[in-house]
Amino acid sequence: MTQDSPAPSVVPVMVPMPAERPYSYAVPPGMAVAPGSIVRVPLGPREVAGIVWDGDGGKVDPRKLRPISQVFDCPAIDAPMRRFVDWVADYTLSPPGMVARMLLRAPAAFDPEPWIDGIARTHALPDRMTAARVRVLELADEGMSWTRSGLAHAAGVSSTVIDGLREQGVFEDVKLPPRPVVAAPDPGYVTPALNPDQAAAASTLREKAGQAAFSVTLLDGVTGSGKTEVYFEAISAALDRGAQVLILLPEIALTHAFLERFQDRFGAKPAEWHSDLPPRMRERVWRQVAEGQVRVVAGARSALFLPFMELGLVVVDEEHDPAYKQEDRVFYNARDMAIVRAHIAGFPVILASATPSIETRVNALSGRYGRVALPARYAEAALPDLKAIDMRRSPPARGGFLSPVLLDAARKTLSRGEQALFFLNRRGYAPLTLCCVCGHRFQCPSCSSWLVEHRFRGQLVCHQCGHTEARPEACPSCGALDHLIACGPGVERIAEEAVGHFPDARIIVLSSDLLGGVRRLRLELEAIAKGEADIVIGTQLVAKGHNFPNMTLVGIVDADLGLANGDPRAAERTFQLLSQVTGRAGRTGKKSLGLLQTYQPDHPVMKAIVSGDAEAFYDKETDERQRAAMPPFGRLAGLIVSAATRAEAEGHARTLRRAAPRAGDIDVLGPAEAPLALIGGRHRFRLLVHGDKRSDIQKFVRSMLAAADKPRGSVRVQVDIDPQSF
Ligand code: ADP
Ligand code: ZN
Repeated sequence: MTQDSPAPSVVPVMVPMPAERPYSYAVPPGMAVAPGSIVRVPLGPREVAGIVWDGDGGKVDPRKLRPISQVFDCPAIDAPMRRFVDWVADYTLSPPGMVARMLLRAPAAFDPEPWIDGIARTHALPDRMTAARVRVLELADEGMSWTRSGLAHAAGVSSTVIDGLREQGVFEDVKLPPRPVVAAPDPGYVTPALNPDQAAAASTLREKAGQAAFSVTLLDGVTGSGKTEVYFEAISAALDRGAQVLILLPEIALTHAFLERFQDRFGAKPAEWHSDLPPRMRERVWRQVAEGQVRVVAGARSALFLPFMELGLVVVDEEHDPAYKQEDRVFYNARDMAIVRAHIAGFPVILASATPSIETRVNALSGRYGRVALPARYAEAALPDLKAIDMRRSPPARGGFLSPVLLDAARKTLSRGEQALFFLNRRGYAPLTLCCVCGHRFQCPSCSSWLVEHRFRGQLVCHQCGHTEARPEACPSCGALDHLIACGPGVERIAEEAVGHFPDARIIVLSSDLLGGVRRLRLELEAIAKGEADIVIGTQLVAKGHNFPNMTLVGIVDADLGLANGDPRAAERTFQLLSQVTGRAGRTGKKSLGLLQTYQPDHPVMKAIVSGDAEAFYDKETDERQRAAMPPFGRLAGLIVSAATRAEAEGHARTLRRAAPRAGDIDVLGPAEAPLALIGGRHRFRLLVHGDKRSDIQKFVRSMLAAADKPRGSVRVQVDIDPQSF
């Protein structure tokens, strides 16, 4: 090699693969890359997009390495984001490449968006004027650049008018920059009138959000207290200091109404980010977030991995919601990781909820998080009157599920022209179908779960894996005809019962398997808000965040449903869900009622809901957690071992257990069959690692995994740090 051709340098590149560390690549002479650059690199037989990582590429002879093929013309992934990826990988025990993959999920966005064809006014004048030409030129002389069809449309003329002017040289062709996916929000577009509680909360949050410094604040306010209005003020303060803002929402069905509310306050919508976004839109949002053109994003948990240029505030709405936990590939909780991201980059986080998680509440009480409270509903609205219906005393009619007390309340509600909601967190018609001749039960062929009848569709469906079969006439086991019976209710069955009692009522059933998807759901939600339904029957989709002004009765069909599964978090979750659902009633001044059908009216959850004494309930739950050293007073990790056969899964789980190191502050429970012992044909066993608050549970699990034999054959191990259920 001669003096004037220096050896190419070597850089580490994080590729979107289950790679434990970045791979080394050679940088060809003349190519400029820096940590954070997005590059195209060869990987095996293909090419992938990766991120140039920090550090040197190792002591490898660059001539032996494959070269980077291209540097994309794309903003670099900044240092805090790279630290965040490393941190998430380390915490969740995931390969960093898999975390980086979440960041790289918009491949076409790495190339700049193409400029669009436009036209611009020259100094030339047309040969003669017509009325149409006058309109076109008036608009064009306002100085904006236009697309040909845009100008024609705005002027209300056909595009041949524009073409004529173009031929005469009155317009020339120009390239216009890509349009923003959303207009810029204006922090001062509307100055809302806040009540004194709201104003006090808003001023605290404004102060926090106005600083580029790490802080976490819980905005704790009853349903309908105006949490959204209040955190909008914090967003306005963050926008004022030039920060980008991310709002995490637990449910995409909620986004539409949210976007409109945001627009009312800021004069423009935030960009959306969720799995339902069309691919082209995803690419554009990704790119414009990276370029800093999009200032506010409202999105699902994956929005946390968008490459913001100057993220400066994250709001986590309904922070307690289980939907923030991803349990696939990289197991992470977006609420917790939002706090980590804020800590790394040094900016504030706001957690909003009417029913905070125990973890968050404990942190707020100890002073680690700030806390602002909204104790009352906005304006005239009062919280609903809440009562338990003891189902042992007022049982439903034979074959029914709605007690006379609830039906009576519904009758009164409808007679006043108001709306009722019957809530049951179970899709379909019936959770179990059985043959009353031979007792045969319909089970999923590849899961340990019963098939749920969906009568509208005439199908039996597995809610775990999606397996679907037609509902037969005859029992497949004994052949008896017409002896299949539906056991237990789903929303479809409640709808059938409601139709029987209220034949003239307009009834809407809402659940996530609605034909027509999110669009249909949105229309139905709008119809309900406009009063175009009398009775709404729904699953947890209707529980969250909606404002239905005319809804004054909420009936919980089975308040005990979530309590039976033996999960220590069950009481907390049920309390949160029931508070949310009953919170749909009485959002305007009208008197409202929430009725809970239960067989355990003395259960602490029912008592807490009925008495409205959330604090006492939380205190007791917190105490129990503390005594058992459960989170947040202790640490947990789940190891799920799955395999094609039960024996393989159990065998490897035992191997792992034997590989556990000795540690005074950590012990291992299990293996036991996982709560869902069979999913999609895979048998599952679970080990639970339980440690003190200060124990290094990740280190412990790592050494278990390292000491055990590598999983062989069909065996897979998934690590779930901070599992949702325990
Ligand atoms: P939460 O999120 O606490 O359940 P919301 O923010 O959805 O409450 O507010 C409940 C309802 O009260 C909404 O319809 C909202 O528009 C209205 N509201 C709350 N605060 C105000 C305010 N200061 N001015 C006008 N309307 C308000
Ligand atoms: Zn299944």
